[in-house]
Amino acid sequence: MSINPSPFNNWSRTATARQLLAMVLSVLAILALPDFVSGQTSAKSNAKEKGKKVDSAPSSGPRDYRSANFLVHTDLPAEEANELLKRLETMLALISKYWGRPNKQTIEMFVVRDLEVWPPDSLEPPGRESIEQRAGLTITRGSVNRQTGQLLAAKSRVYAIADRGVPQHEAVHAYCHQTFGRAGPTWYAEGMAEMGHCWREGESRVHCLPQNVKYLRSVPPKPLRAIVNGRDQTGDSWQNYAWRWALCHLLANNPNYFDRFRPLGLGILADQPDATFERVYGSMSQEIAFEYLFFLQNFDLGYEVTLTAWDWKTKFRSVTAALPVTCVVEAKRGWQASRLQVKAGDEIEISAEGTWSLSADGPEFTPFGAELPASKPDLEKPGKSSKAATPKRASKSATEALEELPSVMHYESRFKPGQLVGVLFNDYELSEPFAIPADGVFVAPGEGQLFLRCEEAWNRLADNKGKVNVKFKLKSDK
Ligand SMILES: [Zn+2]
Repeated sequence: MSINPSPFNNWSRTATARQLLAMVLSVLAILALPDFVSGQTSAKSNAKEKGKKVDSAPSSGPRDYRSANFLVHTDLPAEEANELLKRLETMLALISKYWGRPNKQTIEMFVVRDLEVWPPDSLEPPGRESIEQRAGLTITRGSVNRQTGQLLAAKSRVYAIADRGVPQHEAVHAYCHQTFGRAGPTWYAEGMAEMGHCWREGESRVHCLPQNVKYLRSVPPKPLRAIVNGRDQTGDSWQNYAWRWALCHLLANNPNYFDRFRPLGLGILADQPDATFERVYGSMSQEIAFEYLFFLQNFDLGYEVTLTAWDWKTKFRSVTAALPVTCVVEAKRGWQASRLQVKAGDEIEISAEGTWSLSADGPEFTPFGAELPASKPDLEKPGKSSKAATPKRASKSATEALEELPSVMHYESRFKPGQLVGVLFNDYELSEPFAIPADGVFVAPGEGQLFLRCEEAWNRLADNKGKVNVKFKLKSDK
């Protein structure tokens, strides 16, 4: 795009250029972040339909709407404009809390539904162009400090179509530019902006466009390094945005990685030289690569990386006659460490006690996946319809109370729902999952660490209840 007359984007890549230019402390600069939008085609057709509606109820053109942190010029009807302001404020509260810096400057936005009702000079040409492409653009003006690359006294203007979270995405860029003077390398800037419009207070579930799920689940995974080190430019393609979102979502939410991710982000936004993906996560690169692939293979709307994070800490050992191995498997979590290390052909007796269910009010299952008669839980819980049920409901986690998000992908499984299932982890690879014959003899199909879980669709774990105590012994006649 032609509105980037400053060397801002290029010089920061080389130290020599930096040194050469260090004498000039700052110049006037314009930084533009153009964005492609997911599903441009459908967005277009959608807009045409909406355009027709606009025709039948003529729009009076753009008007101004203000809230604590935003000034929005938009042709949206007042109700929708106010609704958008509310969503923007909610998102801004979340991201400024996350980055620990309150927003100090009004974020000015042009949010367009029907370009035809906007007067010819109401949008600066690059913004208009971006909107014609059904996309978004954040233009930031300020002085750039040539030593640090920081934009000083930065003032952003956002141009966005009123669709598909584009205003929220661009508002994240504007907040970063105005607050930190930069948004970071492409993978971080765009990954976090994509996350921005998906964030929900206190929730780590996947909320993204269904087509992103479909795309990421159906193509070969893009290597981590290609995302982080890629020379990709902002505004390249919605597919690349989806990869960046996936990586940022995983790192920001997975308990194995999130405590390093926020400081990394703050370091990036402060332009600290050691704030790079390699430096921060280099020692965990195999673990991240494993969990990243696992996420891409299994996620869907509603998937929670907090429930499926891999257990890298538990110690495993082989079972002996004198020392059985025991573990607890929770219905609502993904693969869980059994503590049992096996070799191919090991014959191990297993017993499992307990019941679990696959929804808050659903039937209970044995660890074999056999449904228990409904009368049994009634007998065990005489207070079901009276007082005893009330505190139980009240103590439900926020997650359980959330409505189910529709699955994009069809979940296929060879196993019965509620069945205890195992998988072997060996050198960052997983075996095919296999059913565990609870209360029987289990012959290890290979070598590795045994992980267990309660069979269910991966994005439906949160409302599961119950747990099972599992015990492994060497087969007695061996
Ligand atoms: Zn962007």
